[in-house]
Amino acid sequence: MFESLSERLGGVFERLTKQGALTEDDVATALREVRVALLEADVSLPVARDFVKRVQEKATGQGVTKSVTPGQQVVKIVHDELVAVLRGDGPADALKIDNPPATILMVGLQGSGKTTTTAKLARRLAEKQGKRVLMASLDTNRPAAMEQLQILGVQIGVDTLPIVKGESAVQIAKRAKTQAAMGGYDVVMLDTAGRLHIDEVLMDEVQAVRDIAQPRETLLVVDGLTGQDAVNVAAEFDGKVGITGVVLTRMDGDGRGGAALSMRAVTGKPIRFVGLGEKMDAIETFEPERIAGRILG
Ligand code: GDP
Repeated sequence: MFESLSERLGGVFERLTKQGALTEDDVATALREVRVALLEADVSLPVARDFVKRVQEKATGQGVTKSVTPGQQVVKIVHDELVAVLRGDGPADALKIDNPPATILMVGLQGSGKTTTTAKLARRLAEKQGKRVLMASLDTNRPAAMEQLQILGVQIGVDTLPIVKGESAVQIAKRAKTQAAMGGYDVVMLDTAGRLHIDEVLMDEVQAVRDIAQPRETLLVVDGLTGQDAVNVAAEFDGKVGITGVVLTRMDGDGRGGAALSMRAVTGKPIRFVGLGEKMDAIETFEPERIAGRILG
């Protein structure tokens, strides 16, 4: 995911660290290159600009040019700033699944990986936290999507709400909540319908489901390969339905990584998980330190 950014930054820092003594101009030149590398990775302009400004201020404040290892100092400051921009104003909490049955509403565009992610998270909750999970598909327009969730449920050993033809998304959500309460489930995961683009019909439906379901978490699933589009989709969904976090999928792909870097700064919402493949165990919690480490190699 971060290969090209990582390569570009690696080149900049290698030159810096090899140089030994550094002038303020050397640092400024390197930071200009950092800015270009970030923009090429599809990080949004204000985020890239602020990032470089903060690194510059810290480098000046800490007098790096006078230190024994100025290049390494700059790399350290960049690392810390990467962690800061990824983390935002606080660490992402664990999923809130107290007061059973807790509802997790999964939202996002069609093809983003929503159904796959719903099953991956259900499996995690069941296997790692011993939770009893019930999944339900609300995608009444696409019977294939409903069946896909059933199939995944069987595969991972997690229950799914039986499909009843002719029900609306809101009716399914109600039935899922009732079933979860009666059946002693800890968590109910609602996989809402996606569309190719954000439109009013979709948002109205998600809002109606949200009002009925009263979710503890509303997780937006977005395709990490779509860069700034992913960030725009997140901002829109957050404005319309209010999200508690983001899952970035396809982080195993060769995207440029900009979505991960801009998401928190632009939307204020934390990335909670990253999807790293098609398999059911290909999901990780989002760890800013680890991502920053990956970027800096
Ligand atoms: P939905 O329409 O949003 O429900 O999307 P799906 O869950 O059906 O996923 C669409 C495709 O993307 C499927 O082929 C998934 O296996 C694949 N997919 C989902 N998440 C990931 C991921 O993190 N990495 C990769 N490589 N593929 C993924």
